[in-house]
Amino acid sequence: MKLDYNEKSNLEYNLSKSVGARMTSTFYGYSGFYGEHCLRSSLEYIYAKYLDYMEIGWTYEDKTYLLSNEVRYKPDFLLENGEYVEIKGVFNYQSDLPKIQLFESEYNVKVTIFQEKDLRQLIKDTPFVFEHLKQEWKSHAKVRGMDNFGKRNPMYGVTQSETTKAKIKAKAKARFADPSFKEKFVNSPKRKAYHESRKGKKTGALVPRFILTCEFCQNSFEVIQHKVSKRRFCSKNCSVQAQHGKTSTTNSDIQTLAHTFALDNYETLLSVKLNNLKELFQALQDSIQKENHILDIRTICQIVTGKPCSRKELLYYLREYAQKVRGATAKNKAVELEDKKPLG
Ligand SMILES: [Zn+2]
Repeated sequence: MKLDYNEKSNLEYNLSKSVGARMTSTFYGYSGFYGEHCLRSSLEYIYAKYLDYMEIGWTYEDKTYLLSNEVRYKPDFLLENGEYVEIKGVFNYQSDLPKIQLFESEYNVKVTIFQEKDLRQLIKDTPFVFEHLKQEWKSHAKVRGMDNFGKRNPMYGVTQSETTKAKIKAKAKARFADPSFKEKFVNSPKRKAYHESRKGKKTGALVPRFILTCEFCQNSFEVIQHKVSKRRFCSKNCSVQAQHGKTSTTNSDIQTLAHTFALDNYETLLSVKLNNLKELFQALQDSIQKENHILDIRTICQIVTGKPCSRKELLYYLREYAQKVRGATAKNKAVELEDKKPLG
């Protein structure tokens, strides 16, 4: 089943090379435990399930091998017959293939590479359904680097042996012994940006800002370009304060508008449901906004009814008004929501 990559045409080679290089940097598989093994993708899970079904003994990421070019290589699966299996979602011909070939020749072993299409073929004669296994793994595993902090991390509670800890320590120490590495690490822009951001400082290039003067408090404030024509006040507070000064709580124009609205929409006022009030009053609100520059519905309610209130109170007020004008006497109750539990 070994695939001969040397036979691929140059075009295909270059194509997959560029795709592979782009994908591997952003592609993260789903990690999780299958038995005692922490697998790193749904493809690996599917293969492990296959091996167990076929009763083939296996271990996962058993050992790291040092190659003659100082590159370390850790094959995915080691089967009981001594064969190695590499599971690849995306195969990077430039970096993966030479490493595997070198490993094969230096350790005199065979590595079989399985990609998704090979695994689909492989499990055809088993009762497994590829998509089912994939879903099964996704619901069980976690995307690496996402929702896997603390106890949700598949490696949580896995302790390293003292020798492993010593190895990691020695390796880090050796790295820092190299002055160029140390310099690069300490002065890394990424690391600096991280520490700045921890102090609440903004890093990276900022979109150019424009300085405007607040029409209410006269303080200057910064905005991004597309807000220049929209912002008049430095804060919501200033905007509200400015509105307050301008808006009187009596305005016969607005009252007339509301009364006309009530008579025009008499039938609707009687039948409207209380969860549709926003839509009902939107047209009225829009025309008041256009004519009188008042946005706040509570201010509008205050002007119309004489006291600050909600849309519901406004409805009752307008209904009463319309009934008075039309000479009706029947007092219709608003249609309450059948279910008063909060929506959603
Ligand atoms: Zn201001």
